[in-house]
Parts: sequence; structure tokens; C-alpha cells
Amino acid sequence: MTTPPPVIQAVPKQLHIAGTWQNAAAPRTMPVDNPATGTTLCEVADAGPEDGRAALNAAQAAQKAWAATAPRTRSEILRRAHEIILDRTEDLALLMTLEMGKPLAEARGEVTYAAEFFRWFAEEAVRIDGGYATSPDGRNRHLVLRQPVGPCLLITPWNFPLAMGTRKIGPAVAAGCTMILKPAPQTPLSSLALTGILTEAGLPPGVLNTVTTSDAGGLVEPLLRGGGIRKLSFTGSTQVGRILLAQCADTVVRTSLELGGNAPFIVFDDADIGAAVDGAMVAKMRNMGEACTAANRIYVHSSVAGEFASRLTARMSALTVGDGTAPGTDVGPLIDAAGRAKVDALVRDAVDRGAKILTGGELPAGDGNFYPPTVLTEVPRDAALTGTEIFGPVAALFTFDDEEDVVQAANDTEWGLVSYVFTRDLDRALRVGERLETGMVGLNTGLVSNPAAPFGGVKQSGLGREGGRVGIEEFLEYKYLAVPTGS
Ligand code: NAP
Repeated sequence: MTTPPPVIQAVPKQLHIAGTWQNAAAPRTMPVDNPATGTTLCEVADAGPEDGRAALNAAQAAQKAWAATAPRTRSEILRRAHEIILDRTEDLALLMTLEMGKPLAEARGEVTYAAEFFRWFAEEAVRIDGGYATSPDGRNRHLVLRQPVGPCLLITPWNFPLAMGTRKIGPAVAAGCTMILKPAPQTPLSSLALTGILTEAGLPPGVLNTVTTSDAGGLVEPLLRGGGIRKLSFTGSTQVGRILLAQCADTVVRTSLELGGNAPFIVFDDADIGAAVDGAMVAKMRNMGEACTAANRIYVHSSVAGEFASRLTARMSALTVGDGTAPGTDVGPLIDAAGRAKVDALVRDAVDRGAKILTGGELPAGDGNFYPPTVLTEVPRDAALTGTEIFGPVAALFTFDDEEDVVQAANDTEWGLVSYVFTRDLDRALRVGERLETGMVGLNTGLVSNPAAPFGGVKQSGLGREGGRVGIEEFLEYKYLAVPTGS
């Protein structure tokens, strides 16, 4: 391992439990690799179940005092953390690019997006309301208050290492919950840096406990089954979400699940084709296609399919693939060799079934997990990628002739996170938007993520919402006091 860059050196590499940085109880470490080069950047602590228990003890011990902290105090901590994050945009962006691969420009965008969750929830922390009402028979007064749900377990994926953390920590802090954060093992450094920032911003010891581990199942299962965790907020695959939901059943843990997607992207014959191509570039290529919101199935009306395909192909083939730290890189590496092999297998399967490659489609030689921007046309509807998250820079184009047919095809999936519709006809936009079985619909846009909007899916894309006015609700319980008045 060569000497790591200064931004890596500056990040704590230990567990953060009860306000102190510490080694794992069994002092193991695990490597963090750079997906662009395959080299190891550094080692971080590798927690075991005993560290998970210590983190839970710390979260439980801190819960009462934290819940009693003034909302304005909680708000100010988030506000300060928001400012520190923005002040350190360049360092945090570089850190994310090194551990995850996304190009620096995208990483800077994620830093801003991540910080915005703290600003939004700083504003929400002081707006937790209640109620005072007279019962219908006039004999009671009903007092309704909101209380923090209690110690939370937050589990995040590797694809948006900073923003998936702030999207959970922000509302938990605002609501007055203590937490254990378990980031993905590929990208622990962004979460460790974020933990340091929150400490600097004044978050008291024990409120946020961060544990990095290579044995997620071994650490998490006893916590969920043990009864001390009152809330799970998970972002990751549907497959893992199902396992965790089952584990939560034992002690009836409240759950928020932000799971996988299989987004349909529909271009009608009356669409502005330039805008649709712009939208597809965002919905497909953001994060190299490694996004739950990625356009997985692009349905284009047959009368505009040729024009759309050639304009999209021109844009995709002009992108520069390379190390995300290099100036001018548009497309970084995929997260690991397994992720790249999966993308390649899906492309091969589609081609074997009759799809045509308009650009890309070949594994490059050399180091790093690179995959070229690829456009496939004439993709048959039984190709494996129609039922799998591609999670890579592959645009799969299907054609349709009929609105009813495309809505049915779009809904023919177990997932329901997001869909995209491009049309100039407002009636059609609303009609189709209402019929699509997804939690979010982009109308003439390829980007729906916004901290002020309720992000989440239906069907097997998840439970609950993050962001927006409802984001904090997931971390609050209602309590109602019945007060007889005697009158
Ligand atoms: P993943 O494999 O499901 O892992 C997500 C997190 O869960 C990681 O921290 C992982 O740690 C942990 N995990 C895995 N198995 C576990 C278990 N048995 N018990 C406890 N924790 C466990 O997903 P990923 O590959 O990191 O992320 C990609 C997926 O996330 C895609 O499906 C994507 O669509 C989804 N995603 C959804 C959203 C959304 O908002 N809906 C946003 C971003 C990503 P280990 O890796 O150590 O197992």
C-alpha cells in the first residue's frame, strides 16, 4: 500500500462509539479499495457483534438526554454541520471519488445534495407540532404530542456514500433519536468523515455511533432481533431489504426501506426529443448508472425511435471514461469487478436474444472496473435486463406503439421506485403519471431527487419516504394524552 493522499490520511479510521474513536474489540481492520485502480487506499476498523452491542448501549444511554434537548439546539447542530460540509466540498468530493469512483464533478454535486438534507432538517427540527382538541362528546381534552421513536439503526449503500447518510441522520437528529450508522464496506470513509463533522458541529457523545464492518449480517441481526433498536432505516437492495424486514418482525421494529428500482423511461411521439435525450442522459448516466433511480428500460414510440436512438448514441459515445479524479472524466469505474461482470452478462444476454449494440458493449482491457457507455436497441422484452437492475452505463431501448401497452409494460415489474415520462400533452402526462405504479414520476425531467421532496417507492421498492415534510415523520411517534374535563 503506497502512502495515501492527504484527504484519506485526514479521515479517522476507527469506530466511533459513545463519543470516542476506538479500535474494534477484536482488533481487526478491512481494506478500502479505489475502484479506478484496484489499489488499497487504507484500512479501517472492522467491527464485530460485540462492537455492535457497545454502539447500541451508547445509543440507548444517550437517548433520554438527547430527546430532551431543545429542538433549536438540534437544529443548530445540523445547520453548523451543513456549513462545515459545504466548506469542505473539495476534500469530501475527492474522498468520495477515491473510494467510490464517481467523477469529481458528480461528487461535488453529491456533497451539495448531502449538505442540503441537513439544512432542510435543521428547518424541520423546530416545526414538530402537536395538537389540543376537545373530544366529540365534550368530556375529554386530547393532547397529541410527537416523541422520537428511539435508538435507530441506519444502514447505507455505497452508491451515494454521503447523501444516503445525511438523508437518514438529518431527520433522526431533528427528531431527537440516537443512532447507529453502518455504512457499506466499500465506502466507509465518507461516513467516517461525516461522523467527524457532526462531532465538530456539537453532536453530543453517543448520539451517532458509527460502525464499519465486513460482516454486516453478523453485526446487524442480533441488534434487530435483540429488542433495543426501535427503528431501522435501510437503503440498499430489495433482496437485503426483505431479509432485514423479516428480522425486524421479531421485535416489531419500525422500518423505512429505500430499495432497488427498475425505472421505465417513456418517450411519446409528441415529446421534445432533445429534452428527452437530455433527460435520458441524466436518468441513465448519473453515477455511471449505479443509481436506484437509473432509467433501466427506455421505451420510445416507434415513430421517433430512430431519431432518439441516434441522438442518444451520439451523446453516449462522446463521453470520456476514466479515473474520476482526472479532469474531463465523465464516466468513472463501476464499484467492483462483480458489478462490472453483472453488467457485461446482461449486455451479452440481450445481444444473444437479438438486441443490437449502437455503441459500447465491449469490456475494456486494463486495470479498474470500467465499462463503456453502451446503447442497445431492439431489445426484446424477455431480455434479462428487463427484470434486473442493470446498475451500469447501459441504455436499453425498447419500442412501443400504444399508450396502454407501454403503461402495462412499465408496470410489469415487482419494483416501483420511479418512472419518467416525456410528452408535450399535459392530459397524457397526468393520465400516464397517475397510472404508473411508482412512488415518483419525472414529467419531462430525468432527475427527481430533491431533499424537499418525499423520496421513496411502492411495491418492492420500499416502505416509507425520505426527505420532504414527511421525512421526519419516520423518526417520530405520536403520543396522545386523554384528559377528562368533568364537564
Ligand atoms: P446492498 O447489497 O443491499 O447493501 C446495502 C447495505 O446493506 C450495505 O451497507 C450492506 O453491507 C448491508 N447489508 C447487506 N446484507 C446485509 C445483512 N444481511 N444484514 C445487514 N446489512 C446488510 O446494496 P448495495 O449494493 O450497497 O447498494 C445498491 C442497491 O441499493 C441497489 O439495489 C439500489 O437500487 C439500492 N439503492 C436504493 C436507493 C433508494 O433510495 N431507494 C438509494 C440508493 C441505492 P455489506 O455490503 O457489507 O453486506
